[in-house]
Amino acid sequence: MIQKIITNKCPNCGKGHIYKEKNIYFNFRKLKMNKECSKCGFIFEKEPGFFFGAMYVSYALGIAQAIVVFTIGTFFFETIFDLRILPWITVTVLLLSSFNLRVSRIIWIYLLRGI
Ligand SMILES: [Zn+2]
Repeated sequence: MIQKIITNKCPNCGKGHIYKEKNIYFNFRKLKMNKECSKCGFIFEKEPGFFFGAMYVSYALGIAQAIVVFTIGTFFFETIFDLRILPWITVTVLLLSSFNLRVSRIIWIYLLRGI
C-alpha cells in the first residue's frame, strides 16, 4: 500500500493515477488532480470539501518532518533547545510543503476509500 501511495496510484485498482502530473514530490505548480480513476472510474473527490481533512494529515507530516530536523539538529548544537534550529525547521517544512500537500491528499483518499 505504501508503494501505491508513493507511486500516486488509485486505491481501488492500483493502476490509474490520482494526479495528472508526473512529479508529485517537488512540484510548486498548481495541483492537477484527476476527478476519477482512468482505469476503474473510482472517484477521488467524493464531495465538495472532501480534502479539508487532508490538512490534518499534512499537519502530521509537517510535525514529523520538524521532529526529524530537530533530532538531527541536536547533533550540531551544544544545547538541546538551541533556537538556531528554528530557521532550519522552517526552511525544511516550507520546502516540503508542496510534497506534504500532495501526499496528504493521497493518504486521505486511502484512509477514506471504503466510505
Ligand atoms: Zn482505479
